[in-house]
Amino acid sequence: MKKPQAIKKILIANRGEIAVRIIRACQELGIKTLQVYSEADRHSLPVLMADEIVCIGPARSRDSYLDIKKIISAALVYKADAIHPGYGFLSENAEFAECCEKESIIFIGPSPQSIRMMGDKATAIRLAKEAGIPTTPGSDGIVGDYQAAASIAEKIGYPILLKATAGGGGRGMRIVQDKGQLEAAFMEASQEAKSAFGNSSLYLEKYLSNIRHIEVQVLGDGNKVLHLGERDCSLQRRNQKLVEESPSPVLSEKMRVKIGNAALKLCRHVNYRSAGTIECILDPATNEFYFMEMNTRIQVEHPVTEMVTGVDLVKEQIRIALGQGISITQDQIQMRGHAIECRINAESAENDFRPNPGRVNEYFAPGGFGVRMDTHLYSGYVVPPYYDSLLGKIICWGSNRDEAIERMNRALLEVKIDGIETTRLFQRNLINTPEFRTGKVHTRFVQDSFLSNYLK
Ligand code: ADP
Ligand code: ADP
Ligand code: MG
Repeated sequence: MKKPQAIKKILIANRGEIAVRIIRACQELGIKTLQVYSEADRHSLPVLMADEIVCIGPARSRDSYLDIKKIISAALVYKADAIHPGYGFLSENAEFAECCEKESIIFIGPSPQSIRMMGDKATAIRLAKEAGIPTTPGSDGIVGDYQAAASIAEKIGYPILLKATAGGGGRGMRIVQDKGQLEAAFMEASQEAKSAFGNSSLYLEKYLSNIRHIEVQVLGDGNKVLHLGERDCSLQRRNQKLVEESPSPVLSEKMRVKIGNAALKLCRHVNYRSAGTIECILDPATNEFYFMEMNTRIQVEHPVTEMVTGVDLVKEQIRIALGQGISITQDQIQMRGHAIECRINAESAENDFRPNPGRVNEYFAPGGFGVRMDTHLYSGYVVPPYYDSLLGKIICWGSNRDEAIERMNRALLEVKIDGIETTRLFQRNLINTPEFRTGKVHTRFVQDSFLSNYLK
């Protein structure tokens, strides 16, 4: 392992807004950046911003951003000391982290063993149980076939949720309402998991309704672990997050401490080193929470936590990977005010969220007090059709929740993205519903109530 002071250059193995985010952190730390890119991203913002660039292949992710050999070769040829994987792509790939280790390149993330343990969702649940953290009733690990699933479902009761152990990004899940649907759903879900993640293994959980998604941001460096409060990500569509906020409008101080302590306990149990997120389900009716999964990477919505704590999570993640340790203590973390994030996607909400790539004729960023926009957009940029449709995120801070919402209202009107359809106005409608305003939403609110009204 290289000494921290020897770190001069970081390779960024990602694209879009998160690549820009990482480049900015490196610039402030005085570290040079090497941006790898696919042919489709030749004119993208991170490629324009980085100190050095190298093309690693054609548009298709499999031939570029997911090609371990090409990325490692680029790091070796261009003498990068470390690799930041961002989110998605290779960020939770243990084999990639291992290849970095073999070549004495620092992987900015947890150890391959941690990724293996916590990145595999069924294993992570077992470890959480071991650590005494509540989990949703369900299977004890992988279920081999639908008959095995049926006997567990019989015990815990329908509806149940089939989940891919390698799943992520809201994919590879199936709700099963009764026994009659189980066999077909099992086949479908394992097929989908196989093609999306290269791993068909499934586990199952009781499907809970009227729940909220609450997650805890953690940092661990081998000596200490600390948490930076929670994010509430209950506004979702198809199990994918749309709006995130911190603090949660429904969590009491007592529950905040309880969930935060559970997250720390789990991190200690697996000796977690890096930035990570412990995702939980909260049932507001009973105030019970259940561990759901851990993401062993930086998350899309990390800026919400940065805005209320003042801690730069990407810099801390880099510091930890370089062996410098976390720069703060738990006592120094104070949550101040309220922050909300709206994801802006190149999608047409009116047409079942159909992706809408193309040329952005004009981009104008929102600004002013408490407004942050993380994006790779610029006027004239052509959004390629090959990747995730996330264009950027607007994050607004306010001294309280109402002010944060009003500021978001303003920012969503101020931002200008001309030429392609985006979810900007859909998001504006969503944050102004009485349900969101009063903090009374659940993870099915968008799909069950909001969407049909919006489309009218
Ligand atoms: P977050 O968990 O950070 O809120 P998402 O769940 O939206 O973010 O995932 C972030 C990105 O990573 C998305 O592009 C998503 O499709 C991708 N992603 C997440 N998990 C996986 C996975 N296991 N395999 C492939 N892509 C993934
Ligand atoms: P991913 O790895 O794709 O992020 P998660 O396990 O984190 O998958 O679940 C994504 C979302 O699916 C959650 O935020 C929640 O809305 C929903 N979900 C997951 N598990 C359950 C459950 N047992 N009951 C009801 N909804 C669930
Ligand atoms: Mg998740």
